[in-house]
Amino acid sequence: MNDVRNVIVIGGGPAGYTAALYAARANLEPLVIEGFNWGGQLMITSDVENYPGYADGVLGPAMMQDFRRQAERFGTTFVTDDVTRVDFSQRPFRVWVGDDEYRAESVIVATGATARQLGIESERLLQGRGVSYCATCDAAFFRDKVVVVVGGGDSAMEEALFISRFASRVVVVHRREEFRASPIMVDRARSNEKIEFVLNKVVEEVLGDDKVTGVRVKDTVTGEESEIDADGVFVAIGHDPNTALFLDQLDHEPDTGYLLTRGKSTETNIPGVFAAGDVQDHVYRQAVTAAGSGCAAALDAERWLSEQRHAALRTPVAASS
Ligand code: NAP
Repeated sequence: MNDVRNVIVIGGGPAGYTAALYAARANLEPLVIEGFNWGGQLMITSDVENYPGYADGVLGPAMMQDFRRQAERFGTTFVTDDVTRVDFSQRPFRVWVGDDEYRAESVIVATGATARQLGIESERLLQGRGVSYCATCDAAFFRDKVVVVVGGGDSAMEEALFISRFASRVVVVHRREEFRASPIMVDRARSNEKIEFVLNKVVEEVLGDDKVTGVRVKDTVTGEESEIDADGVFVAIGHDPNTALFLDQLDHEPDTGYLLTRGKSTETNIPGVFAAGDVQDHVYRQAVTAAGSGCAAALDAERWLSEQRHAALRTPVAASS
Protein backbone atom coordinates (compact mmCIF):
# COMPACT_ATOMS: atom_id res chain seq x y z
CA MET A 1 0.00 0.00 0.00
CA ASN A 2 1.21 3.50 -0.82
CA ASP A 3 1.20 6.66 1.28
CA VAL A 4 -1.88 8.85 1.35
CA ARG A 5 -1.62 11.38 -1.48
CA ASN A 6 -3.20 14.79 -1.71
CA VAL A 7 -4.84 14.02 -5.01
CA ILE A 8 -5.19 11.15 -7.44
CA VAL A 9 -6.30 11.96 -10.97
CA ILE A 10 -7.97 9.08 -12.77
CA GLY A 11 -7.65 9.44 -16.54
CA GLY A 12 -4.99 10.58 -18.99
CA GLY A 13 -6.68 12.87 -21.49
CA PRO A 14 -6.81 16.66 -21.78
CA ALA A 15 -8.89 16.98 -18.57
CA GLY A 16 -6.72 14.63 -16.49
CA TYR A 17 -3.36 16.06 -17.55
CA THR A 18 -4.54 19.64 -17.12
CA ALA A 19 -5.87 18.82 -13.65
CA ALA A 20 -2.48 17.27 -12.87
CA LEU A 21 -0.59 20.28 -14.21
CA TYR A 22 -2.51 22.68 -11.98
CA ALA A 23 -2.37 20.37 -8.97
CA ALA A 24 1.38 19.88 -9.44
CA ARG A 25 1.99 23.63 -9.67
CA ALA A 26 0.03 23.98 -6.40
CA ASN A 27 2.56 21.58 -4.80
CA LEU A 28 -0.04 18.84 -4.39
CA GLU A 29 2.27 16.23 -5.99
CA PRO A 30 -0.54 14.51 -7.91
CA LEU A 31 -0.54 10.93 -9.06
CA VAL A 32 -2.22 10.35 -12.42
CA ILE A 33 -3.48 6.86 -13.07
CA GLU A 34 -3.65 7.50 -16.76
CA GLY A 35 -4.91 4.23 -18.18
CA PHE A 36 -3.04 1.64 -20.20
CA ASN A 37 -4.02 3.43 -23.41
CA TRP A 38 -3.35 6.95 -22.15
CA GLY A 39 -4.13 10.04 -24.19
CA GLY A 40 -7.87 9.59 -24.69
CA GLN A 41 -9.84 10.29 -27.82
CA LEU A 42 -7.14 12.49 -29.34
CA MET A 43 -5.01 9.40 -29.88
CA ILE A 44 -7.35 8.43 -32.73
CA THR A 45 -7.41 11.92 -34.25
CA SER A 46 -4.93 13.10 -36.84
CA ASP A 47 -4.41 16.86 -37.12
CA VAL A 48 -5.81 19.10 -34.40
CA GLU A 49 -6.26 22.60 -35.77
CA ASN A 50 -8.63 24.08 -33.20
CA TYR A 51 -6.59 23.91 -30.01
CA PRO A 52 -5.55 27.48 -29.19
CA GLY A 53 -1.81 27.96 -29.16
CA TYR A 54 -1.01 25.44 -31.88
CA ALA A 55 -1.24 27.93 -34.74
CA ASP A 56 0.09 25.45 -37.30
CA GLY A 57 -1.97 22.54 -36.01
CA VAL A 58 -0.64 19.49 -34.22
CA LEU A 59 -1.11 15.73 -34.38
CA GLY A 60 -3.49 14.50 -31.65
CA PRO A 61 -1.00 12.02 -30.12
CA ALA A 62 1.80 14.63 -30.19
CA MET A 63 -0.43 17.10 -28.40
CA MET A 64 -1.23 14.59 -25.68
CA GLN A 65 2.48 13.91 -25.23
CA ASP A 66 2.96 17.66 -24.75
CA PHE A 67 0.15 17.75 -22.18
CA ARG A 68 1.68 14.81 -20.30
CA ARG A 69 5.20 16.22 -20.40
CA GLN A 70 4.00 19.57 -19.07
CA ALA A 71 2.27 17.87 -16.12
CA GLU A 72 5.42 15.78 -15.48
CA ARG A 73 7.66 18.85 -15.51
CA PHE A 74 6.05 20.09 -12.30
CA GLY A 75 6.28 16.81 -10.42
CA THR A 76 3.29 14.72 -11.51
CA THR A 77 3.87 10.99 -11.27
CA PHE A 78 2.08 8.45 -13.43
CA VAL A 79 0.77 4.92 -13.30
CA THR A 80 0.25 3.73 -16.87
CA ASP A 81 -2.48 1.24 -16.18
CA ASP A 82 -6.24 1.01 -15.77
CA VAL A 83 -8.03 1.57 -12.47
CA THR A 84 -9.98 -1.56 -11.63
CA ARG A 85 -11.89 -0.52 -8.49
CA VAL A 86 -12.55 2.51 -6.30
CA ASP A 87 -13.93 3.02 -2.80
CA PHE A 88 -15.15 6.57 -2.12
CA SER A 89 -17.21 5.58 0.93
CA GLN A 90 -14.62 6.89 3.41
CA ARG A 91 -11.50 9.04 3.51
CA PRO A 92 -8.81 8.60 2.51
CA PHE A 93 -10.36 7.46 -0.75
CA ARG A 94 -9.06 4.20 -2.14
CA VAL A 95 -8.24 3.39 -5.75
CA TRP A 96 -6.99 0.05 -7.01
CA VAL A 97 -5.03 -0.99 -10.05
CA GLY A 98 -5.34 -4.77 -9.83
CA ASP A 99 -3.89 -5.66 -6.41
CA ASP A 100 -2.09 -2.33 -5.97
CA GLU A 101 -3.96 0.08 -3.72
CA TYR A 102 -3.52 3.86 -3.82
CA ARG A 103 -5.03 6.25 -1.28
CA ALA A 104 -5.72 9.96 -1.47
CA GLU A 105 -7.49 12.79 0.33
CA SER A 106 -9.11 13.87 -2.95
CA VAL A 107 -9.78 12.32 -6.34
CA ILE A 108 -10.40 13.88 -9.73
CA VAL A 109 -12.27 11.59 -12.11
CA ALA A 110 -11.36 12.40 -15.73
CA THR A 111 -11.90 9.12 -17.52
CA GLY A 112 -13.56 10.73 -20.55
CA ALA A 113 -15.99 9.24 -22.98
CA THR A 114 -15.61 6.89 -25.88
CA ALA A 115 -17.14 7.48 -29.28
CA ARG A 116 -19.22 4.48 -30.22
CA GLN A 117 -17.68 2.61 -33.09
CA LEU A 118 -19.32 0.53 -35.78
CA GLY A 119 -17.09 -2.30 -34.65
CA ILE A 120 -15.84 -3.43 -38.04
CA GLU A 121 -12.18 -4.12 -38.77
CA SER A 122 -11.93 -1.78 -41.78
CA GLU A 123 -13.18 1.11 -39.62
CA ARG A 124 -10.38 0.53 -37.13
CA LEU A 125 -7.71 0.28 -39.83
CA LEU A 126 -8.75 3.57 -41.45
CA GLN A 127 -9.10 5.66 -38.27
CA GLY A 128 -7.33 8.97 -38.87
CA ARG A 129 -7.14 8.10 -42.60
CA GLY A 130 -10.62 9.27 -43.48
CA VAL A 131 -12.59 7.68 -40.65
CA SER A 132 -13.40 10.28 -38.02
CA TYR A 133 -15.60 10.65 -34.95
CA CYS A 134 -15.58 14.44 -34.67
CA ALA A 135 -16.77 16.86 -37.34
CA THR A 136 -15.67 19.92 -35.37
CA CYS A 137 -12.15 18.48 -35.44
CA ASP A 138 -11.88 17.06 -38.92
CA ALA A 139 -14.56 18.47 -41.28
CA ALA A 140 -12.23 21.13 -42.70
CA PHE A 141 -10.02 18.38 -44.15
CA PHE A 142 -12.88 17.43 -46.49
CA ARG A 143 -13.27 20.63 -48.46
CA ASP A 144 -14.97 19.86 -51.81
CA LYS A 145 -14.98 16.13 -50.98
CA VAL A 146 -17.75 13.57 -50.57
CA VAL A 147 -18.40 12.46 -47.00
CA VAL A 148 -20.56 9.74 -45.48
CA VAL A 149 -22.06 10.38 -42.02
CA VAL A 150 -23.34 7.31 -40.17
CA GLY A 151 -26.17 7.70 -37.66
CA GLY A 152 -29.69 9.01 -37.22
CA GLY A 153 -29.47 11.00 -34.00
CA ASP A 154 -28.94 14.70 -33.29
CA SER A 155 -25.17 14.23 -33.50
CA ALA A 156 -25.41 12.80 -37.01
CA MET A 157 -27.62 15.69 -38.16
CA GLU A 158 -25.37 18.26 -36.51
CA GLU A 159 -22.23 16.68 -37.98
CA ALA A 160 -23.81 16.48 -41.44
CA LEU A 161 -24.79 20.16 -41.30
CA PHE A 162 -21.35 21.19 -40.11
CA ILE A 163 -19.53 19.09 -42.71
CA SER A 164 -21.77 20.52 -45.46
CA ARG A 165 -19.97 23.84 -44.98
CA PHE A 166 -16.86 22.21 -46.41
CA ALA A 167 -17.76 19.07 -48.36
CA SER A 168 -19.35 19.09 -51.80
CA ARG A 169 -21.76 16.30 -50.82
CA VAL A 170 -22.75 14.64 -47.54
CA VAL A 171 -24.51 11.27 -47.49
CA VAL A 172 -26.21 10.39 -44.20
CA VAL A 173 -26.46 6.61 -43.85
CA HIS A 174 -28.98 5.49 -41.24
CA ARG A 175 -30.10 1.99 -40.35
CA ARG A 176 -33.83 2.78 -40.04
CA GLU A 177 -36.42 4.96 -41.74
CA GLU A 178 -37.31 6.92 -38.61
CA PHE A 179 -34.82 9.21 -36.92
CA ARG A 180 -33.84 9.43 -33.29
CA ALA A 181 -32.88 13.04 -33.97
CA SER A 182 -35.30 15.84 -33.15
CA PRO A 183 -37.59 16.79 -36.06
CA ILE A 184 -36.12 20.28 -36.28
CA MET A 185 -32.61 18.89 -36.81
CA VAL A 186 -33.86 16.43 -39.44
CA ASP A 187 -35.73 19.24 -41.22
CA ARG A 188 -32.63 21.39 -41.22
CA ALA A 189 -30.56 18.60 -42.72
CA ARG A 190 -33.26 17.74 -45.25
CA SER A 191 -33.46 21.31 -46.47
CA ASN A 192 -29.70 21.48 -47.04
CA GLU A 193 -29.09 20.80 -50.71
CA LYS A 194 -25.68 19.21 -50.13
CA ILE A 195 -27.10 16.58 -47.76
CA GLU A 196 -28.82 13.41 -48.93
CA PHE A 197 -30.15 10.43 -46.99
CA VAL A 198 -29.61 6.75 -47.55
CA LEU A 199 -32.00 4.96 -45.19
CA ASN A 200 -32.41 1.37 -44.03
CA LYS A 201 -28.73 0.74 -44.65
CA VAL A 202 -25.90 -0.42 -42.41
CA VAL A 203 -22.24 0.02 -43.18
CA GLU A 204 -20.69 -3.40 -43.70
CA GLU A 205 -17.21 -2.22 -44.67
CA VAL A 206 -15.21 0.97 -45.01
CA LEU A 207 -13.43 0.74 -48.34
CA GLY A 208 -9.86 1.85 -49.02
CA ASP A 209 -6.29 0.68 -48.44
CA ASP A 210 -4.42 3.58 -46.88
CA LYS A 211 -7.26 6.09 -47.13
CA VAL A 212 -11.03 5.93 -47.36
CA THR A 213 -12.52 5.51 -50.84
CA GLY A 214 -16.10 4.67 -49.85
CA VAL A 215 -18.35 2.33 -47.93
CA ARG A 216 -20.13 -0.91 -48.69
CA VAL A 217 -23.65 -0.85 -47.28
CA LYS A 218 -26.33 -3.48 -46.83
CA ASP A 219 -30.06 -2.81 -47.05
CA THR A 220 -31.70 -3.82 -43.76
CA VAL A 221 -34.95 -4.71 -45.57
CA THR A 222 -33.84 -6.46 -48.76
CA GLY A 223 -30.33 -7.56 -47.73
CA GLU A 224 -29.01 -6.08 -50.99
CA GLU A 225 -25.47 -4.70 -50.93
CA SER A 226 -24.17 -1.60 -52.69
CA GLU A 227 -21.26 0.84 -52.53
CA ILE A 228 -21.10 4.58 -51.95
CA ASP A 229 -17.94 6.39 -53.11
CA ALA A 230 -16.65 8.80 -50.47
CA ASP A 231 -13.45 10.44 -49.23
CA GLY A 232 -14.40 10.37 -45.58
CA VAL A 233 -16.64 8.56 -43.10
CA PHE A 234 -17.86 10.30 -39.95
CA VAL A 235 -19.25 7.85 -37.43
CA ALA A 236 -21.82 9.74 -35.32
CA ILE A 237 -23.64 7.00 -33.46
CA GLY A 238 -23.19 8.43 -29.96
CA HIS A 239 -20.67 8.45 -27.11
CA ASP A 240 -20.51 6.48 -23.89
CA PRO A 241 -18.94 8.00 -20.78
CA ASN A 242 -16.31 5.81 -19.15
CA THR A 243 -18.12 5.66 -15.83
CA ALA A 244 -18.73 1.95 -15.17
CA LEU A 245 -16.33 2.03 -12.18
CA PHE A 246 -18.20 4.85 -10.48
CA LEU A 247 -21.90 4.22 -11.10
CA ASP A 248 -22.54 2.66 -7.68
CA GLN A 249 -20.87 5.59 -5.86
CA LEU A 250 -21.25 8.80 -7.84
CA ASP A 251 -24.48 10.47 -8.92
CA HIS A 252 -24.99 10.23 -12.65
CA GLU A 253 -27.61 10.72 -15.34
CA PRO A 254 -29.72 7.58 -15.16
CA ASP A 255 -30.06 7.08 -18.91
CA THR A 256 -26.59 7.93 -20.09
CA GLY A 257 -24.23 7.37 -17.15
CA TYR A 258 -22.62 10.83 -17.42
CA LEU A 259 -21.47 11.99 -13.97
CA LEU A 260 -23.37 14.85 -12.35
CA THR A 261 -21.51 17.85 -10.98
CA ARG A 262 -22.88 20.68 -8.86
CA GLY A 263 -23.63 24.00 -10.53
CA LYS A 264 -20.60 25.48 -12.17
CA SER A 265 -18.20 23.48 -10.02
CA THR A 266 -16.64 20.05 -10.65
CA GLU A 267 -17.91 18.70 -7.29
CA THR A 268 -19.65 15.36 -7.32
CA ASN A 269 -22.06 14.16 -4.63
CA ILE A 270 -19.06 13.01 -2.55
CA PRO A 271 -17.08 15.88 -0.99
CA GLY A 272 -13.46 15.57 -2.12
CA VAL A 273 -14.29 13.72 -5.34
CA PHE A 274 -14.39 15.88 -8.45
CA ALA A 275 -15.24 15.12 -12.08
CA ALA A 276 -13.79 16.87 -15.12
CA GLY A 277 -13.96 16.65 -18.88
CA ASP A 278 -16.11 14.49 -21.10
CA VAL A 279 -17.01 12.12 -18.26
CA GLN A 280 -19.43 14.85 -17.09
CA ASP A 281 -20.00 16.78 -20.32
CA HIS A 282 -21.88 15.48 -23.33
CA VAL A 283 -22.50 18.92 -24.75
CA TYR A 284 -19.17 20.49 -25.69
CA ARG A 285 -16.78 17.51 -25.80
CA GLN A 286 -13.77 19.45 -27.04
CA ALA A 287 -10.15 19.08 -25.93
CA VAL A 288 -10.09 22.72 -24.93
CA THR A 289 -13.28 22.54 -22.85
CA ALA A 290 -12.06 19.32 -21.22
CA ALA A 291 -8.75 20.99 -20.38
CA GLY A 292 -10.61 23.97 -18.90
CA SER A 293 -12.70 21.65 -16.81
CA GLY A 294 -9.56 19.80 -15.62
CA CYS A 295 -8.13 23.12 -14.50
CA ALA A 296 -11.36 23.88 -12.60
CA ALA A 297 -11.24 20.46 -10.90
CA ALA A 298 -7.68 21.03 -9.69
CA LEU A 299 -8.63 24.45 -8.31
CA ASP A 300 -11.72 22.95 -6.64
CA ALA A 301 -9.63 20.13 -5.16
CA GLU A 302 -6.94 22.52 -3.93
CA ARG A 303 -9.53 24.75 -2.26
CA TRP A 304 -11.29 21.78 -0.72
CA LEU A 305 -8.06 20.30 0.67
CA SER A 306 -7.09 23.62 2.16
CA GLU A 307 -10.53 23.98 3.81
CA GLN A 308 -10.14 20.49 5.29
CA ARG A 309 -6.72 21.42 6.73
CA HIS A 310 -8.02 24.63 8.23
CA ALA A 311 -10.97 22.77 9.74
CA ALA A 312 -8.59 20.17 11.23
CA LEU A 313 -6.45 22.94 12.77
CA ARG A 314 -9.51 24.65 14.27
CA THR A 315 -10.89 21.50 15.91
CA PRO A 316 -8.53 21.23 18.97
CA VAL A 317 -8.97 24.95 19.78
CA ALA A 318 -12.75 24.53 19.82
CA ALA A 319 -12.40 21.44 22.05
CA SER A 320 -10.27 23.21 24.68
CA SER A 321 -12.42 26.36 24.97
P1 NAP B 1 -28.13 9.00 -30.03
O1 NAP B 1 -29.24 9.94 -29.81
O2 NAP B 1 -27.97 7.80 -29.15
O3 NAP B 1 -28.25 8.50 -31.54
C1 NAP B 1 -27.38 7.52 -32.05
C2 NAP B 1 -27.82 7.19 -33.48
O4 NAP B 1 -26.86 6.28 -34.03
C3 NAP B 1 -29.19 6.53 -33.56
O5 NAP B 1 -29.87 7.00 -34.69
C4 NAP B 1 -28.83 5.05 -33.69
O6 NAP B 1 -29.75 4.34 -34.50
C5 NAP B 1 -27.53 5.09 -34.44
N1 NAP B 1 -26.70 3.95 -34.12
C6 NAP B 1 -26.33 3.52 -32.89
N2 NAP B 1 -25.52 2.45 -33.00
C7 NAP B 1 -25.40 2.19 -34.32
C8 NAP B 1 -24.69 1.22 -35.08
N3 NAP B 1 -23.93 0.30 -34.48
N4 NAP B 1 -24.78 1.26 -36.42
C9 NAP B 1 -25.53 2.21 -37.04
N5 NAP B 1 -26.23 3.16 -36.39
C10 NAP B 1 -26.15 3.14 -35.04
O7 NAP B 1 -26.69 9.73 -29.96
P2 NAP B 1 -26.31 11.23 -30.38
O8 NAP B 1 -26.89 11.56 -31.69
O9 NAP B 1 -24.83 11.32 -30.21
O10 NAP B 1 -27.00 12.12 -29.28
C11 NAP B 1 -26.71 11.91 -27.88
C12 NAP B 1 -27.48 12.94 -27.06
O11 NAP B 1 -26.94 14.25 -27.28
C13 NAP B 1 -28.95 13.01 -27.42
O12 NAP B 1 -29.68 13.27 -26.26
C14 NAP B 1 -29.03 14.20 -28.34
O13 NAP B 1 -30.30 14.83 -28.36
C15 NAP B 1 -27.96 15.12 -27.76
N6 NAP B 1 -27.42 16.00 -28.81
C16 NAP B 1 -28.06 17.19 -29.03
C17 NAP B 1 -27.60 18.05 -30.02
C18 NAP B 1 -28.30 19.33 -30.24
O14 NAP B 1 -29.37 19.52 -29.71
N7 NAP B 1 -27.76 20.24 -31.01
C19 NAP B 1 -26.53 17.69 -30.81
C20 NAP B 1 -25.90 16.47 -30.59
C21 NAP B 1 -26.37 15.63 -29.58
P3 NAP B 1 -31.21 3.97 -33.93
O15 NAP B 1 -31.98 5.24 -33.96
O16 NAP B 1 -31.71 2.95 -34.90
O17 NAP B 1 -31.00 3.42 -32.55
